Amino acid sequence: MTDPPLIAGLELGGTKCIAVLGTGPDDVQDERNIPTTTPAETLGALESVLDGWSGFAAIGVASFGPVALDPHAVDYGSITITTKPGWSHTDIVRRLRARFAVPVGFHTDVVGAALGEGQWGASAGLADHAYVTVGTGIGVGLVAGNAPVTGMTHPELGHLRPRRFPGDDWTGACPFHGDCCEGLASGPAIAARTGIAAPDLPADHPAWTPTAHAIAQLCHALVMTGVPRRIVMGGGVMVGTPHLFPRVRKLLHDSLGGYLVTPELGDLDSYVVPPHLGNRAGPLGAIVLGGRAFAAASTAP
Ligand code: ZN
Repeated sequence: MTDPPLIAGLELGGTKCIAVLGTGPDDVQDERNIPTTTPAETLGALESVLDGWSGFAAIGVASFGPVALDPHAVDYGSITITTKPGWSHTDIVRRLRARFAVPVGFHTDVVGAALGEGQWGASAGLADHAYVTVGTGIGVGLVAGNAPVTGMTHPELGHLRPRRFPGDDWTGACPFHGDCCEGLASGPAIAARTGIAAPDLPADHPAWTPTAHAIAQLCHALVMTGVPRRIVMGGGVMVGTPHLFPRVRKLLHDSLGGYLVTPELGDLDSYVVPPHLGNRAGPLGAIVLGGRAFAAASTAP
């Protein structure tokens, strides 16, 4: 098959789910939004949408997490333990496979966004790249050699412990680690530290400096481990706060200290960048996941 297959893509989000039918950003034939309530209600509504669509060759799912990704584990394709009421241990992949009898691709929402940006957006043409979302939480989709990095499960880079900004001893907001990156720089962390929601926090507020520092420390760790050729940064905190990008680039530059000289790192303005696909990265990433599942099933012996 030379034409890209028609895919049903599902982005499962904390407050809403988006279902798209298409082959890519220039060919989205239908799109529906479903509120995220209970698993039975939400998944049932999504299945009804898919029932009304015909001709899709595979389904791709980019889900809020944490999710089970070990293909040999009995819980593969499910949401594991989440603070979202009612959603822990919710099977996604098996029920979709059983109902629609097509291949189902499955990964985290942030990996979906990374794959979408890698296919059609800010990382297009790069085999090694990262997508960082800084919003309600901090998550990273790390792609190496065109494949998302996974092991026991997906990486949890938002929970890295950064070196603290000198003089900043705020305890942080992560219920597990306190001052991990997510505990210092997510939207809820900013609000907990300042009493002001991140979008309303003035650009000259002193809390932005340790916040940007924690994000830059995460980028430093990404540079040194995944060695991505570009870092795309989205999510409500980054997208709503344009002054963060120059701060993060400057602090990353200082943190790297001249170590690791590459053409990419020589131009941080084009190394740490906003997304191109905006809110569409997730649903489009779900199309990529579905396309990959279809390709894998087509080449399987
Ligand atoms: Zn944490």
